[in-house]
Amino acid sequence: LSFSSCNLPVKLLQNIESVGYEVPTPVQMQAIPAALEGSSLLVSAETGSGKTASYLIPIIARCVNSSCDRLTEKKPLAMVLTPTRELCVQVEEEAKLLGKGLPFKTALVIGGDAMAGQVYRIQQGVELIVGTPGRLVDLLTKHDMELDSISIFVVDEVDCMLQRGFCDQVMELFRALSYPQVLMFSATMSAEVEKTAHSMAKALVIVFV
Ligand code: AMP
Repeated sequence: LSFSSCNLPVKLLQNIESVGYEVPTPVQMQAIPAALEGSSLLVSAETGSGKTASYLIPIIARCVNSSCDRLTEKKPLAMVLTPTRELCVQVEEEAKLLGKGLPFKTALVIGGDAMAGQVYRIQQGVELIVGTPGRLVDLLTKHDMELDSISIFVVDEVDCMLQRGFCDQVMELFRALSYPQVLMFSATMSAEVEKTAHSMAKALVIVFV
């Protein structure tokens, strides 16, 4: 499998080349086609496996392919949850590189910055929101943010989310969405990780790399 055989928008393929990704990593080979088809996934993937691009590429492809229908609608299409601010920053940076020159805007929703600016940016119209669970629950509850337009929900580092006690917040966010495709990534698998994943997606494809 190559990136060019995945039926991706041409500009996205060019961006993948510009960032220097020549061949898909094993995680990407399995996760990208399945995610493009619309399946919900639980993927065993560690940091360094290329997991971030394996969800960002399908997200950007979906945003580009639906951009004509969305000209008047500026609501976000995808949400990525990660357990730390630092990871959110890295994910957003990679998203900006891969989405360069495309109708694809991002917003970070993490602690440390004023919330008003983050809310304003989303209201101006973004395709992707990247954030930590606590801040995103604040966005939902204190700012009445409607998240029903989100059709792809990514939970990165599920094992770490559970260890940090974020399970309830992740589920609260999930329940605010309307039946999104769910893409979950975890370095380690456990009964608890699988149970959490199944509670968000009944038809779940499990990918072991
Ligand atoms: P991640 O597992 O998402 O943290 O990615 C680890 C590193 O691999 C990041 O620095 C990416 O820029 C890089 N990377 C992701 N996909 C590829 C690829 N297909 N080829 C080469 N490097 C990649």
